[in-house]
Formats: sequence, C-alpha cells, structure tokens
Amino acid sequence: MTDDLPRSHGRLKVQVTLQPRDLMEEPRRVKGAWEARIVTLFPEAFPGVLGLSLTGKALDQGLWRLETLDLRTFGEGKHRNVDDTPAGGGAGMVLRADVVHRALRQAMSGAPMDRARWPVVYLSPRGRPFDQARARGWAAAEGVTILCGRFEGVDQRVLDHWGIEEVSLGDFVLTGGEIAAQAMIDATVRLLPNVLGNAASTEEESFSDGLLEHPQFTRPAVWEGREIPPVLMSGHHGEIEKWRRAERERLTQERRPDLWEKRKG
Ligand code: SAH
Repeated sequence: MTDDLPRSHGRLKVQVTLQPRDLMEEPRRVKGAWEARIVTLFPEAFPGVLGLSLTGKALDQGLWRLETLDLRTFGEGKHRNVDDTPAGGGAGMVLRADVVHRALRQAMSGAPMDRARWPVVYLSPRGRPFDQARARGWAAAEGVTILCGRFEGVDQRVLDHWGIEEVSLGDFVLTGGEIAAQAMIDATVRLLPNVLGNAASTEEESFSDGLLEHPQFTRPAVWEGREIPPVLMSGHHGEIEKWRRAERERLTQERRPDLWEKRKG
C-alpha cells in the first residue's frame, strides 16, 4: 500500500495503486455502501470507536466504508510541511490552502459534486452545530467527505474555493476534528439500513420527533429501595405509552426549553 492514497478500513478494500486503472477492475466505490472519507493528520485515530460494537460490525460487513487520507502525504517539500504561521501574526499554526486542496482533490475523486448526494464539511467550532436532522441527511446521501482541522485551523481560501460547509460538534474547542468526525459518523452510520438490529429503535429515541427520550428501567424490580414505576409493570400498553409520552414532554420542557419552543412553533 502506498502512503498517498486512501486507506480503507473494513472489508471493502480500496484499489491502492498508482497505475491507471484497468477497465476490468472493480470500481473503487462499491455500489450501495455508504462511505466516509476523512482528511486528517492522524489517520491512526480511525476507525477508533467506530471499529467497536454495532458500527464496527457493520464496517466489517461492508454496510459502510471508511477511507482516511493522511494530510501529511500531501505536504510540501522533504519534510512534508502542512502548516505555517498565520498571516497577520498571532499564535499557533494554520493548515496550508495548497496542501489541503491536494488532499481534498484526492478525497473527492469519483464522488458526486452534488452536495446533497455527497456533503463536504470542515469540522470547526464556528460551524452550525451537528444535530439529528443532519445525521439523517448524511445517512440519506451516498457518502461524506470530512476535513479534520488541527492547530488554529485551515486557510480560509481553500474552504471558500471548495464551498465547504463548516459543522461543529458543539460550543467548545477540541484540539482536532477527529473526535468530532467519529461522533458525527457514529450518529450517521447507526441510521443506515441494517446497522441496528431493531429498526424501530431509531424511530423512538431522543430527537426523532423533537422530544427527549423517556427514562428507561430494567431488572431488578426493586433496587436500593427504588421501584420501577408501577405503570411499566402493568402490562397496559395504552397506559404505558401515555406515561412515556408525558415523561418525554416533561423532560424536554425541563431540560431543553429550546427544543420545546421549536416544537410548538
Ligand atoms: N482556532 C479555532 C479552533 C481550532 S481547534 C477557533 O478558535 O475556532 C483545532 C481543530 O479542531 C479545528 O480546526 C477543528 O477541525 C477541530 N475542532 C475544534 N473544536 C471543534 C468543534 N467544537 N467541533 C468540530 N471540530 C472542532
């Protein structure tokens, strides 16, 4: 495997050769498998937690695929420099426009340019916060290209040139985009068909209808003197549904007045 082509995780291997591709070869994208392409200085961070449990099993089964592109291999000169000091002065380093551009060109090869079919995002605290609606949008696309920043971020010109949207994991500052990428991919992959065992479970959970989820209980029936709410043990499905609904509304009003307002509006 050469260093300047994507690495793939999971069973669906990428063609890694610098020779022009033979017409008889398998296409690089296996039809139907949702794909995440990650541009990062730390490809070894992947698949990370995505390799575990349901997302990991789905990756092994080829239900989705993951390619990492090592930004370093697109660097300048003998030392493969990827960053430089900020124009105008100030602390830290900024990822170079030309280096990021080369990586993105590679990352977008063969991908549709229609952003609805294939979103292209830069992870950044300045972006619009990621949410369940975006996870659903990504899951409905064919794949996504994600640029992970490091240091002070990325030269603005390459973001403008590619019309890249910025997306945030939340109102805090991480040292790099890799954890954010894994969080967003996890939220997306679990919505893909056949990834979760029980399809109904994505329809009833938090945010799916603008409400937070009701509390959950399991055995033992009494624990440390605390009982399970009797209605849940009653066997009356109508009553159970009513109780759960009321709890979801109560929790949403109490904890997330912003979500509650949005629902009413
Ligand atoms: N100087 C920047 C922060 C850079 S943090 C600023 O003040 O906005 C370094 C990298 O971590 C960023 O380029 C971004 O890719 C990633 N990162 C940091 N916080 C993030 C967040 N909340 N969501 C997504 N990515 C984040």
